[in-house]
Amino acid sequence: MRKMLFDPDQIIIRMYEVSKHYGDSDALVNITFDVHRNAFFFISGPSGAGKSTLMKLLYLGEHMSGGYAIVDGMNLSRIKRSQVPMLRRRLGIIFQDYRLIPGRSVFDNIGLVLEVAGVRSRKVIRDRVMNVLERVGLADRHDAFPPTLSGGEQQRVAVARAMVGKPSIILADEPTASLDPEAAEMIFDLLVSAHAEGATIVITTHDRYLLSKGCTGIVYLKDGRCVNPYGDRQ
Ligand code: ADP
Repeated sequence: MRKMLFDPDQIIIRMYEVSKHYGDSDALVNITFDVHRNAFFFISGPSGAGKSTLMKLLYLGEHMSGGYAIVDGMNLSRIKRSQVPMLRRRLGIIFQDYRLIPGRSVFDNIGLVLEVAGVRSRKVIRDRVMNVLERVGLADRHDAFPPTLSGGEQQRVAVARAMVGKPSIILADEPTASLDPEAAEMIFDLLVSAHAEGATIVITTHDRYLLSKGCTGIVYLKDGRCVNPYGDRQ
């Protein structure tokens, strides 16, 4: 395939002929696509298609087996171990199963992101955490522990945690799959508001309802390959 021109001001994620193998099995094969800055982008496809694996490659939860990927100007194949925290600070990540720390308060779960990023001022941390909690409608639950919250509330905390560092990209891996429609709508609306403030949003989903809400870009995966949703392989 011909190499595409790359303008880092316009393209925030480039995946180029990316593959991922686990032993003999191919989880992803020759994945090529661009995500434009401030896109609202979906990665879709059936269960087992490789959506989560693709997300893991983007936040370096896993290393790719071949190809290259650029995420917000950082080349993931060449990145040094010492640069990984810098990459992660540019990302806010949301998982289907929330992944909050159960033994820490809602406030601490979010504040930790800022501490790890090197924010020292207690006042700055308090103001920023309370600000995102207001946005997700949970300021009054700041001292609650995650297991006492509903699934929808826990996911709203996870969204607040993803937003608090003002990341350039929010990666959301099946963010609504465990939620009832009302809670899912709330999460989707929060992602829409983060997008309106300038973040690039990348969501994996096979939820037709979410897909029906529209996006600015989409790739479909099937058996680890990019496919044309209407049938023919691209
Ligand atoms: P999806 O998110 O679309 O449901 P996944 O990315 O979870 O798909 O999985 C894609 C394929 O990769 C599946 O065949 C899965 O079994 C395989 N896979 C994912 N993670 C691993 C792993 N850690 N070890 C081996 N195979 C894996």
